[in-house]
Amino acid sequence: MNLSKLSEILQAEPKFRFKQVYQALYLDLIDDWQQASVLPLALRERLNIECPLTIQAELQKDASDKRSEKAMIYFTDKVAVETVLIRQRDRRYTVCLSSQAGCPLGCAFCATGASGFTRNLSAEEIVEQFFFWARRLRHNQDVEKIDNVVFMGMGEPFLNYDEFIKAVKILHDPERFNLGSRRMSVSTAGITEGIKKLSSEKLQINLAISLHAPVDSLREQLMPIGKKYPIAKVLKTVDEYIAKTGRRVMFEYIMMKNTNDDDDDARALANLMRKPLYLVNLIPYNTTGRFQASSPARINTFQEKLESMGVAVTQRRSQGQGIGAACGQLAGKKK
Ligand code: SF4
Repeated sequence: MNLSKLSEILQAEPKFRFKQVYQALYLDLIDDWQQASVLPLALRERLNIECPLTIQAELQKDASDKRSEKAMIYFTDKVAVETVLIRQRDRRYTVCLSSQAGCPLGCAFCATGASGFTRNLSAEEIVEQFFFWARRLRHNQDVEKIDNVVFMGMGEPFLNYDEFIKAVKILHDPERFNLGSRRMSVSTAGITEGIKKLSSEKLQINLAISLHAPVDSLREQLMPIGKKYPIAKVLKTVDEYIAKTGRRVMFEYIMMKNTNDDDDDARALANLMRKPLYLVNLIPYNTTGRFQASSPARINTFQEKLESMGVAVTQRRSQGQGIGAACGQLAGKKK
């Protein structure tokens, strides 16, 4: 798929063509310009050559997981990323998008980090992943909708901030996908420059911080970027973000057996997280390598401990386990 020449081509057309083209692309979700029968034949043919709509993708289904689907999307230079569709209740869906091919941050528990970094994605490539799922659901649009988008796939969105935010604006644009900004969430490993930039955007996108450890020594082992962005620095920036936006911030904490899940960890975490508008999200680990998942009983106990110390805490339901879908745990398998 490549829409880079679309605006240029439409410059020579009457103004109403924009509306027709946007309707065909973003509402009718065509995947071949010939389906846009309202457009003149010559224009359709030109668009098919210069703005192809085909998405090169490979769907990876896991029979054991009926709620999620994963796809590899291949771009024109053959670079590939993963994206995931997760079915919620009431035939509503969440889409997980990648912002980079691979990731330069190399978190120890993460399959993407282990596979290295290839390049940043353009905003169009980020949106292409959304197009793929929207088209997949299009035949049943009245009852099946993409309700939420999470930037929690491959990569660190704030290391590709400009393209990430451009993609958010395309998804939010009332003339395109018209997705409410509150329905979008971005997860960062704690890149403070990005948190500051986001606080100045007019968009009310949700912010999540990948924390995963309550002390710097452990966090630096799990997430080497923690050396550059220690916990105190990240939390200070988050507090400034909250003061400016009044928005709640989620702290993601992947539960790894005998690594970050004992009572001392819970106490240390509670000391950091006992603040208004902080919410801890405990995530069952999707085993990908040298760490093991905490047991469900251990996660429950950990949650109870945090709650007893005054922390707001939730548990993420473990969807997408079979296909490796969870924050920071995509890819690596197919590269
Ligand atoms: S967890 Fe996120 S930031 Fe860390 S290596 Fe994986 S994709 Fe990158």
